[in-house]
Amino acid sequence: MIRCISCGEEYEDEKIIYTCEKCGSILEVETNVENVPRDTFENRRQNIWKYKEFLPVNADNRISLDEGGTPFCKCEKIGKQLGIDLYVKVEGSNPTGSFKDRGMSVGTTKAIDLGVNIVGCASTGNTSASLSAYAARAGLKCAVLLPSGKVALGKLAQAMFHGAKVFGIDGNFDDALKTITQLALDGELYLLNSINPFRLEGQKTIGYEIVHDLGWQSPDRIVLPVGNAGNISAIWKGITEFRDAGYIKDTPMMTGIQAVNSAPIANAVKNSEDVITPVENPETIATAIRIGAPVSSIKAMRAIKESNGTAETVTDDEILAAQQYLARNEGIGVEPASAASIAGLKKLVELGEIDKGEHVVCVVTGHVLKDPNIAIESSEDPIKVSADPDAIRKVIKNL
Ligand SMILES: *Cc1c(COP(=O)(O)O)cnc(C)c1O
Ligand SMILES: [Zn+2]
Repeated sequence: MIRCISCGEEYEDEKIIYTCEKCGSILEVETNVENVPRDTFENRRQNIWKYKEFLPVNADNRISLDEGGTPFCKCEKIGKQLGIDLYVKVEGSNPTGSFKDRGMSVGTTKAIDLGVNIVGCASTGNTSASLSAYAARAGLKCAVLLPSGKVALGKLAQAMFHGAKVFGIDGNFDDALKTITQLALDGELYLLNSINPFRLEGQKTIGYEIVHDLGWQSPDRIVLPVGNAGNISAIWKGITEFRDAGYIKDTPMMTGIQAVNSAPIANAVKNSEDVITPVENPETIATAIRIGAPVSSIKAMRAIKESNGTAETVTDDEILAAQQYLARNEGIGVEPASAASIAGLKKLVELGEIDKGEHVVCVVTGHVLKDPNIAIESSEDPIKVSADPDAIRKVIKNL
């Protein structure tokens, strides 16, 4: 069953629908799972389909690249410096290098269930990279709309290379989403942005994996970057489903981090407002979260409120510093948007919002190679020397 999150109107799973016909609000898929003991999931392959009882599509027809089951790394050094217990969930290790693969696996499986033949999305980059790959695997035609000139190189390469029809539009992500949504409502394609609630069903498995990885315990807090706000909503849905199933008792404080000039949700939380005010011209170096009008803001605001969580902003400089800090202290290479979670964590510890000794999980959402230009610009150029051991000896002596 698909249900409107605002007025409760219900729709059949087979209906292609993105917003409520009664009130225009966004939708969610109701998962009805009963009597599945949690040891059902042991000794299954480490991917999202391990939790197939909770995924509302036909798992026998799955379109999968073995997504999910990502590394869960304890970060002793950063944890010690911040006085907390820190794990990082490394979503860059998914097949196309971001968590979007979890959503696209379920989303393209749903497309096959529905019998559609063309899918599409608007994207800041990773959604298109992922959809392009999953559409190729599913044998679906695919069209993606990108803000022209604003997509990181690695993501653009992926979208193009897997064979999607790529459009660079004159406008930002919010404009691209409006345009593709119109095409979807006109019946031209099946939309796989996170307004499609089936995509979030794939992404909720991040929440499942975190509590499972911790031995059926909830961390005190989950910190993640927030753009269109689908992921924070999805993770919270996953967590509450596992709580309601009796697998865990406690739930984490959902903590969303936004870039300071693309922060409608963090601004609303800070001003104790229930509804966001869209940001007209969002800006940040972290292109994956350069979004002014988050589609899932109502769900995200609820997740933050219900979980007793919070939201915070960080500057581009803080993001770049955190990206390098994580790479050089823990060996985990992430793209700028992902580093917002680390930057936000640091800021919240310094502000005293996060208590010493808290058990925190940061979700780092995408791989460093997604945005190679940023990685290169943030680093020292290679030293040009002759192929002579003496020339190199001098330098490494002083490392
Ligand atoms: C999509 C994406 C985000 C933002 O996720 P939302 O669900 O839009 O809030 C953050 N980081 C990366 C790397 C992404 O690809
Ligand atoms: Zn409604």
